[in-house]
Amino acid sequence: MPTKPLDRLMFAQGGLCFFCNVPLPKAEASVEHLVALARNGTNGDDNCVACCKAMNALLGSMSLKEKIKVVLNQKGQFKCPNGAGCTPAKPQSSSPTKPRASSAENEALSAVIANLKGRGNARPRRMKTLVSTIRALPLKLSGQQVSAVIQQLQSNGKIVVDGTQVSYKL
Ligand SMILES: [Zn+2]
Repeated sequence: MPTKPLDRLMFAQGGLCFFCNVPLPKAEASVEHLVALARNGTNGDDNCVACCKAMNALLGSMSLKEKIKVVLNQKGQFKCPNGAGCTPAKPQSSSPTKPRASSAENEALSAVIANLKGRGNARPRRMKTLVSTIRALPLKLSGQQVSAVIQQLQSNGKIVVDGTQVSYKL
């Protein structure tokens, strides 16, 4: 185990700056006392972090409260446990492994389904025609959005694709 405080801290932090998580060359590294020595902070590892010299200089002898504020101001991703109070709430995905369609895609999907339902037996029978039919809708979807909608239709079981043929279970 390295014995110099800076070496120890750098080792414990995996060579990354405590604050910005960027790999920290030793020449740029310095020991930051979270509670400043001037405020009766200790030299112990529990009060010290290794960070960029620039960050150390900025924090100077601020109070811990001021330092927390500085850090929070930089943390775009930080969220309190209630999820809603501090940052605009994002809908939580129920299945994080499967990307959920955006609401715009969902809207496009229901518009496409409504349009296809309205066509009765005149629905496009071929994938190529289905693509151009969807593209011709007033939704003005991009090629990527059209294929996303078609994928959704397939995964929802609304259409069955067999080669170039498409059949419907709307
Ligand atoms: Zn840093």
